Amino acid sequence: MNAAPLTVAAALERILARCRRLPAETVALDAAAGRVLADDVHSDLDLPPFDNSAMDGYAVRSADLVGASEQTPVGLRLVGAIVAGPGQPAGIGAGECAKIMTGAPFPPGSDAMEPLERVGVDGEFIAFRRAVRPGANLRPRGDDLRCGELVLPAGTTLGHVEIALLAAVGQAQVAVVQRPRAVIVSTGDELVDVSQRPGPGQLRDTTVHALPVQLRAAGATVVGVHHAVDSPARLRELFGSFADVDLVITGGGVSMGDRDFVRPVFGELGEVDFWRVALKPGQPLLFGQLGAALFFGLPGNPVSSMVTLDLFVRPAIDALLGRRDGGREALTARAAQDLRSDARRSEYVRVVLYEQDGQLWARPTGDQSSGRLTSLRGAMAYAVVPAGVAAVAVGEPLRVERLAPGVGAGD
Ligand code: AMP
Ligand code: MG
Repeated sequence: MNAAPLTVAAALERILARCRRLPAETVALDAAAGRVLADDVHSDLDLPPFDNSAMDGYAVRSADLVGASEQTPVGLRLVGAIVAGPGQPAGIGAGECAKIMTGAPFPPGSDAMEPLERVGVDGEFIAFRRAVRPGANLRPRGDDLRCGELVLPAGTTLGHVEIALLAAVGQAQVAVVQRPRAVIVSTGDELVDVSQRPGPGQLRDTTVHALPVQLRAAGATVVGVHHAVDSPARLRELFGSFADVDLVITGGGVSMGDRDFVRPVFGELGEVDFWRVALKPGQPLLFGQLGAALFFGLPGNPVSSMVTLDLFVRPAIDALLGRRDGGREALTARAAQDLRSDARRSEYVRVVLYEQDGQLWARPTGDQSSGRLTSLRGAMAYAVVPAGVAAVAVGEPLRVERLAPGVGAGD
């Protein structure tokens, strides 16, 4: 299959067409951070559940304080003190007030409160020096959420704010989408373990360590990490051994070299959807299905494998998770220097973003060779030079996509 390389958009479309949201599982609320909500969550009560005080002070009937001023304060009889805690407070009548603490329920009959620092205390009478509007400093029942209201839709990624909302509406157990289960295979006779000093012609396997980090950051769980020598028999054996996984991610061996066996072996055992994307870095991307699992044959260069994981595997994970808040933030920035690009491919230039003269600028991280690991170091975004464009002059606008955490970001 030597069809013309697909555009990035077409490749993504074909990948997403094969993604089905995974089933739900139930986890305890405190284990739900970072997970994706499987179902809509509605509020099981009004929040706050009762009218309560926004501050420490005195609950009053606003009608009693009409005309109150510094010169003509109004005295109300103190009839009780209400603190935050269970139970219903006694009501207040005309001419009365009750001391009330933040979060305590409003006493029936009152409709406003005046903070402590605004009043004078004179025995059992409290002097009010200004009128208050009805509802002043009162947090009304249901002000935050109404019973039955949609709190969070399915597909929401749960961070601390969402966890707080789930706690408020009683979700001790949360239905979240199962994490996609991924296996990783790095290939290459030349690769040695990190603990070894490479001999002549050898180098250390880097992607076998980097891709799990990236996959976990994207929401997958890594259930197997393998290294394979460039042997069709070994690849056959490995590819045939993966059971109960959603993603098979390989690195290397998908190009046209004499020792690139991933493509032919996958062609025997799996269903090839496409091979090659008009992209730099990462042209020789292989995609298809191995049994029920999505198969991504990523290019071997560590930069290419990390970038293609970000561009193609990550959106697939978002789709498997049914995530509605995934994706990279897209912005426009100006090129901080002239750029040259292969017009036959879209180039994803690793850039640093900075502001100057009220504009956002994108400066490449240095030489963009996909063999240079350091071109990802410190990168904040991809600046996209689309296919068909061979040169971008300094100052010209570029579409930039902010890097998701776990891909060169956060350092
Ligand atoms: P390949 O596509 O297998 O020819 O690999 C392309 C380039 O990436 C070669 O220079 C490989 O040595 C290098 N490479 C492939 N896999 C890895 C890996 N896991 N770690 C580091 N370099 C790799
Ligand atoms: Mg190789």
